[in-house]
Amino acid sequence: MDNEQLKRRDLRALWHPCTQMKDYGEEGTLPLLPIQRGEGVWLYDFDGNRYLDAISSWWVNLFGHANPRINAAVRDQLDELEHVILAGCTHEPVVELCERLIDLTPDGLDRVFLADNGSAGVEVALKMSFHYWLNSGRSEKTRFIRLSNSYHGETLGALSVSDVPLYSATYKPLMLDVITVPAPDCYEREPGESCADVARRQFTHMEAVLAEHADEVCAVIVEPLVQCAGHMRMYDPEYLRLLRAACDRHGVHLIADEIAVGFGRTGTMFACEQGPVVPDFLCLSKGLTGGYLPMAAVLTSDDIYNAFYDDYEKLNMFLHSHSYTGNPLACRAALATLDIFTSELVLERNKVLASHIKKRLAPLADHPHVADVRQHGMIAAVELVQDKASRTPYPWQERRGLEIYRHALTRGALLRPLGNVSYLMPPYVITEDEIDFLVEVMTEGIHRATHQP
Ligand code: PMP
Repeated sequence: MDNEQLKRRDLRALWHPCTQMKDYGEEGTLPLLPIQRGEGVWLYDFDGNRYLDAISSWWVNLFGHANPRINAAVRDQLDELEHVILAGCTHEPVVELCERLIDLTPDGLDRVFLADNGSAGVEVALKMSFHYWLNSGRSEKTRFIRLSNSYHGETLGALSVSDVPLYSATYKPLMLDVITVPAPDCYEREPGESCADVARRQFTHMEAVLAEHADEVCAVIVEPLVQCAGHMRMYDPEYLRLLRAACDRHGVHLIADEIAVGFGRTGTMFACEQGPVVPDFLCLSKGLTGGYLPMAAVLTSDDIYNAFYDDYEKLNMFLHSHSYTGNPLACRAALATLDIFTSELVLERNKVLASHIKKRLAPLADHPHVADVRQHGMIAAVELVQDKASRTPYPWQERRGLEIYRHALTRGALLRPLGNVSYLMPPYVITEDEIDFLVEVMTEGIHRATHQP
């Protein structure tokens, strides 16, 4: 097998996610990347080229590709039990994982419900919140509040509480009727304002909406600190503190979607810890299995669990189910991932790596077409604009970010952009030298994309 052969077969058989397939067709301008194997931060193609996975393969990978410890755990599990129905059965890996997630997450999250991908986890949280209020005699609570520029997945419920029009506008007639509140996005700061000031200023909108609509609202859903799919826009933990208090005051649940930011990405194990706040529902996925297998966990409180614990005849139980719930292989990958967190000083090392990324990206702030260089822990983003003074974006049709992407591939880096934002969200096993390489490649790419010498 070589690169060309596999590409030809692929383009005859597959329909890729999040892709205009014509981009890869006869007249297309984007290269399809055939990957034969992975090792650490590197992906290898069939022709002997390698690419540094700067975006952790859609933010899932934590400890590198083909990590020996996770590989061994999954291999062991294969010989024992590959899968069993989780309704009416249980097994050791799933029990141990749920116990450990309860220990690891903030106090007050005492129960774990499992699903098999991030979007499905969000669906669980939305349905459970609605159903809790129904079981509590509050059938008028049927709506959800989302932040502008939010992203929570692609299934219809998760897409409804998302606000990235590129993904959802087409499906508007199918969407739930949600309430949108302006995000506390620190990119929108006025001169002299801090991110915490923006959070406080923007919170007045949330407070007003909660005051008006709390009676009909089940929950507010947020991505704590970083709106990853929303161009890596970031906000201050002050907003989480204000939101937690307001949700309590108004009798509305708080759903924290930490599918992308959980497991150390923002510097703490969970972004909510930076409030600190305890949500009513915590959605986890992606890094949960170290990037190995699809699984999501939704943690909630005993109080919410108890509203469903009743005689069968009442028919008020949570009947949501996925065939692969609690898959033992995925659980073992997750347990091996958590073992790495406990046996190695991961968050401490990440602090050093994050400050290195910060130092190396800082000069880009002076680039005439860079409007913002922002970072929360191991997530760092550089936003390109046409005009720096007015922050006028490049027309989206120009697809400038893709020029960086194409250039990076020629240099051996996978730097898939989000529109005009180029970002780093690497596996935690990256070295400082590899960070230097990525920043060098990104900088070259930015010069090309903005036609600077
Ligand atoms: N929520 C957030 C915050 C996400 O970033 C994503 C995935 N990018 C999802 C939900 C959906 O997860 P999945 O792709 O596994 O359905």
